[in-house]
Amino acid sequence: MTSSERPFLNRRLAEFGTTIFAEMSALAVSTGSINLGQGFPDTDGPQEIREAAVRALRDGRGNQYPPGPGVPELRAAVSAHQERRYALSYDPDTEVLVTAGATEAIAAALLALLEPGDEVIAFEPYYDSYAACIAMAGGTRVPVTLRPHEGSFRLDLDELRDAVTDRTRLLLVNTPHNPTGTVLTREELAEIAKLAVERDLLVVTDEVYEHLVFDGAEHVPLASFPGMRERTVTIGSSGKTFSFTGWKVGWVTAPPALVGAVRSAKQFLTYVASGPFQYAVAEALALPDSYFEAFRADMLAKRDVLAAGLAEAGFEVFRPQGTYFITTDIRPLGESDGFAFCRALPERAGVVAIPNAVFYDHREAGAPFVRFAFCKQTQVLEEAAKRLKAAW
Ligand SMILES: *Cc1c(COP(=O)(O)O)cnc(C)c1O
Repeated sequence: MTSSERPFLNRRLAEFGTTIFAEMSALAVSTGSINLGQGFPDTDGPQEIREAAVRALRDGRGNQYPPGPGVPELRAAVSAHQERRYALSYDPDTEVLVTAGATEAIAAALLALLEPGDEVIAFEPYYDSYAACIAMAGGTRVPVTLRPHEGSFRLDLDELRDAVTDRTRLLLVNTPHNPTGTVLTREELAEIAKLAVERDLLVVTDEVYEHLVFDGAEHVPLASFPGMRERTVTIGSSGKTFSFTGWKVGWVTAPPALVGAVRSAKQFLTYVASGPFQYAVAEALALPDSYFEAFRADMLAKRDVLAAGLAEAGFEVFRPQGTYFITTDIRPLGESDGFAFCRALPERAGVVAIPNAVFYDHREAGAPFVRFAFCKQTQVLEEAAKRLKAAW
């Protein structure tokens, strides 16, 4: 979309006209395609958690503005979750902030922590709101590209070190990583942490897929490394973990000074959101380990169905260690332009996917990669696989 087509959009946002998801979802509808573009589950989360939301609504809990930092029950549950999973202690009163999804947490953190001109390092390809939020905050994004290496996309630590300048204020990290499915290893995270401490950087870490890790990979929060707690804003969300992406309940954990800063920005974005759902998510976070295990096993089975289908159809598959996305390389199919490929795919195969190039500043580095979401019912994935196989 060119600026002449959006005459009122300011210069900071000119490059963010419409997201690819709107275009591709419209294509899915007009062609009757299976939509593996946008990452939302096609089945809802646990019935008992839905009932908890209904109860909160009926009992008049959260129907009016909840407290600015979030309802105490949810802040306590977030704190208990971080303690139980990672042995990280956060005071529910001063170190936890409930947000309108991870999306608001990211926006508020960047708006609060950046001065105009500050540089932010983020791993490319990146989640689409990062670039827009850095721009809204007046920051400058500095991408460090994850590159394919032996079947997964890896971070080059030397490149990361070289990207830090005197103007770097913040590292924006995402692990498990959307769209590549990469889970940063303990060793990689330790190096990132060392660098952040050495160069005195703030870190915002998006861990919304913390419960979706496979194949023995382990999610380790950056905040758990030496010297990191005091400089790290950790972002979590209920959307992906409990399959309620429409509820928009997310959270931030950080020391009081950082939470306070993020809250200052957050209070003028939504102020508060999702009142009754906050109570329900508090119950969800306290579900037994069996819920999280079953959820992970279910998603792993779905991953394997789609990964096998894509491989059989001729794609090179980067088997994700986390998230619910599979990144593929289309070059074995004789294609090289992910944009053109994804625009033609609905007509050709009746399936919608997303070109990873939209998640890059260096578009050419992402050109041959295409992302498919597997958070869909198994028969939907099987049908998609069948269609893709038939198209080549
Ligand atoms: C989905 C997603 C988000 C947004 O989470 P919400 O809680 O729905 O706002 C943030 N970061 C990443 C990496 C995501 O995939």
